[in-house]
Amino acid sequence: MRKPIIAGNWKMNKTPDEAAQLAKDLIPLVKDAKCDVVICTPAVDFAAVKPVIEGTNIKLGAQNVHFAEKGAYTGELSADMLKAAGCEYVIIGHSERRQYFGETDKTVNLRTVAAVKAGLKAIVCVGELKDEREGGYTNAIVSYQTKMALTNLTAEDLDNVVIAYEPVWAIGTGLTATDEQANETIGVIRKAIAEQFGEEAAAKIRIQYGGSMNGGNVKGLMSQPEIDGGLIGGASLTAEKFAQVVNF
Ligand code: PEP
Repeated sequence: MRKPIIAGNWKMNKTPDEAAQLAKDLIPLVKDAKCDVVICTPAVDFAAVKPVIEGTNIKLGAQNVHFAEKGAYTGELSADMLKAAGCEYVIIGHSERRQYFGETDKTVNLRTVAAVKAGLKAIVCVGELKDEREGGYTNAIVSYQTKMALTNLTAEDLDNVVIAYEPVWAIGTGLTATDEQANETIGVIRKAIAEQFGEEAAAKIRIQYGGSMNGGNVKGLMSQPEIDGGLIGGASLTAEKFAQVVNF
């Protein structure tokens, strides 16, 4: 009953011309997808990509959003700006932003609330570091990150939230959580949401897996009952590879 969602995170890759070409190549390959298909491109690519995917089943997403409506925040983009540029989705709290750009659970929450209240769909990333998994803290970490990220939202707001469980040790490393590990941790995240918003909201919310997901491992991961899709980095940069994931 939860429609799967596969989103590509292009990170800091593709000029506008390259982005338009990749989007063009993708259209025929994913047109019969049974899942929601999203591409989160660099912001400079929105204007090139949006007209290419207009009228197709591919939706546009951003990779970050500021929490203020406007003002003196040099280099940042507001939720209204993203919407005006054609974005429906925005990734929030990606581990690279937490690691390199000082993103905290508090700012992830502020961005999530701003995005959802402005009418964007937020893809909120949570996940443990390698040391945290080895120390046995995975469940505590992902529960805390999830509850913090969703603070000040309502159960209704969660219709516009997707959680991406991304174990940090599996991102861009070629290491993937086993199907069972990913399923179990996503179950823990769903339980945290049930504690915060009730069983109904928890049963409805879509929770993706992310971390070296590709055409070779997507089937196993997607056959797990808790896993509702994927956030795809490396494998989203090639039309054929991303289509393999989308058409799992
Ligand atoms: C990501 O950046 O969200 C990600 C999952 O990357 P990769 O698929 O390359 O591990």
